[in-house]
Amino acid sequence: MLNLKIVLLGSGSVGKSAITIQYVNGEFVDQYDPTIEDIYRKAIEMGNDHFMLEIMDTAGTETFLSMRDLYIRNGQGFILVYSITAKSTFYELEAMKDQVCRVKEAPVSKIPMIVLGNKCDLEPNRQVSSKDAESLCKKWGDVEFIETSAKTKLNISQAFEQLVKQIRTK
Ligand code: GDP
Ligand code: MG
Repeated sequence: MLNLKIVLLGSGSVGKSAITIQYVNGEFVDQYDPTIEDIYRKAIEMGNDHFMLEIMDTAGTETFLSMRDLYIRNGQGFILVYSITAKSTFYELEAMKDQVCRVKEAPVSKIPMIVLGNKCDLEPNRQVSSKDAESLCKKWGDVEFIETSAKTKLNISQAFEQLVKQIRTK
């Protein structure tokens, strides 16, 4: 079985932990300690291939800035999360994308990466249109983009599976 290391990045409270726990445990957590940083494991099967996903749920509480570089260096695929209900979290993604490229010493087109617009169940509170996110991701270099809800489970497993496909082909 092949191990694949996945790293979730994004501003605080966009739903990184909720996405991870929904995917790994199949439940929605309403409250989760925002300082917990942990690795979760999930075995998956895609086609005839078996993978063990090691999912690093970051919390942005690294004591040393270089710790984040270390996670990135070890990561093979990256999930960049913002919340559709908070515009600032969308703009903050660009610096994280740049950090990944810098540490990996590669253009974004060579790095398995997916951008998630999370909390899409909160349509009345939407601050970022899907169109804006799509065009930004295209501008970055055709980065894959999908809207998710950790609450309703919408597109959660799809997001991880798309990323695994990228890791296999990029
Ligand atoms: P993190 O700091 O990025 O790990 O964010 P959390 O996973 O702790 O989520 C922050 C808050 O947003 C929590 O209260 C979650 O229950 C809530 N949340 C996360 N994802 C969703 C979602 O898709 N929809 C809704 N409605 N709330 C969410
Ligand atoms: Mg968290």
